[in-house]
Amino acid sequence: MDSQTLILALLPVILAGMFIHLVNMAIHRNKEAPGFWLVGTAVHGLGQAMICFRENLPDILGIVVGDILSAGGFLILLEGVARFSGQRLPRWIAGAIATLILVGFPFFTWVVDHAAVRFGVFATAVIGSNLLMLPYLSIIGRRDGQASVRLLRYTIYYFAFSLSAISIGVMIFDPAMPGILEPSQFVSFGLLSMIGVETTLIFGCALLSSGQTASVLRQAALTDHLTGLPNRRAFERQVNSGVQHGEIAEDTAALAVFDIDHFKQVNDTYGHDVGDAVLRHVAQTLKQALRKSDFVARLGGEEFVAVLHDMNGEGFNRIADRVRKAVEENPFELDGRQIKVTVSAGLAPLPDRHPCFTRLFAAADKALYQAKGEGRNRVVMAAAA
Ligand code: GH3
Ligand code: MG
Ligand code: MG
Repeated sequence: MDSQTLILALLPVILAGMFIHLVNMAIHRNKEAPGFWLVGTAVHGLGQAMICFRENLPDILGIVVGDILSAGGFLILLEGVARFSGQRLPRWIAGAIATLILVGFPFFTWVVDHAAVRFGVFATAVIGSNLLMLPYLSIIGRRDGQASVRLLRYTIYYFAFSLSAISIGVMIFDPAMPGILEPSQFVSFGLLSMIGVETTLIFGCALLSSGQTASVLRQAALTDHLTGLPNRRAFERQVNSGVQHGEIAEDTAALAVFDIDHFKQVNDTYGHDVGDAVLRHVAQTLKQALRKSDFVARLGGEEFVAVLHDMNGEGFNRIADRVRKAVEENPFELDGRQIKVTVSAGLAPLPDRHPCFTRLFAAADKALYQAKGEGRNRVVMAAAA
C-alpha cells in the first residue's frame, strides 16, 4: 500500500480522536489534561495532513513544518499525561525534545537532505515522548488503580518497540530512501501499525479520565465526609472480606458499637459546628486507641463501630474499656476550655461465617442500650448471638 493512502486513512482516526478528547474535556471540566490531549492530537493530525499532501506544498510546509507538528504533537500528549498525574514535565526535557525536532528537521532537509535520518529524528522524538509517559502512568496507576493505565502502558511498549525496529530497518536496509511517501515496506508497515497505535493512545487517555472518576467516586462512596473515617458500607465490606479470608474468626473478634453519651447536650450548649468538631475529635481518639486492623468506621450520627481483635486473650470487655477510657481522658479543647465527652459501648461476638449485619448490630445495640441504662460511660457485652 502506498504511504499517502495510509496517512490519509490515519486522518479520520485522528479526527475521531479529537472528538473523543473534546467530549472528555466537557465531562472532566476542571481537569487540564484532556485539553492537552486534544491540542496534541490536533497538532499531530495537522502535521500528518501536511505530510500527506507534501507534493502539493512547498518543502517548508510539507516537510519541515509537517514533521515538526507531527512529532511535536506527542510532546504535548506527554505534557497532558504528566499534568494528569499531578506533575509537570521538567522544562529541560521538554526543551531537549523541542530542540531535537526544531533543529533536526530543518537541518536534515536544507543542510543535509536525508529522509532516512529525518525518519530517525521523528522516531527518536516520538519514542522518547512515549517512554517518558511511563513514570507518570505509574503515579496514576497507584492513585486510580492499574486497570486505568494498562492500555496506554502496553500501547507504549508496542509503539516504542515497533518504531525502533522500523527506523533501524530503514537505516540498515534502506538508508537512501528518497522520502516518506516513496514506496518502502518498512514505512508502510510503520504507518499501518500507527493507525492501531493512535486509536489505542486516544482511548487510553480517555480511559485515564474515567479511571480517575471511578476511583474518586469509589473512595467517596466508602468514606464518611465529616470525620474522614470509613463509612458503614466500607465497614461491612471489610468485615465480609475479613471473614472470607479467615482474618476474622469466632472467639477472636467482636463487633463494638460506640455511642457518645449525651451528645445532644454538646450541640445544644456549643452549637452544631462545635458538635461536628467534637465528632471529628472522638473519631481520631477512637482510631488512635484501636489498631489499624480493628477498622473503626462511623455508622452515622454520633455512633462508631469497630472490629475488636483479641490476640492475647485480654478479653473484648477490657479492650473496649481501654478505648472508652481514652475518650474520657482526651477532652476536646476549645479556646482554652475543655469539652469532656464519654462513650458507651455495646459488644457482640462475630461469627466465623458470613455475618448477618442486621442481627449483629441488633445484638450490639441491645448491649449498648443496657450500658446507657446502667449509667453510661461503660461497656456491655451481648449474650452470644
Ligand atoms: P445518649 O447518651 O442516650 O446517646 O444521648 P445523646 O444525646 O447522645 O443521643 P440522642 O440520640 O438523643 O442525640 C444524638 C444527637 O447527635 C442528636 C443529633 O443532633 C446529633 N448528631 C447526629 N449527627 C450529627 C452530626 O453529624 N453533627 C452534629 N453536630 N450532631 C449530630
Ligand atoms: Mg446514638
Ligand atoms: Mg449518644
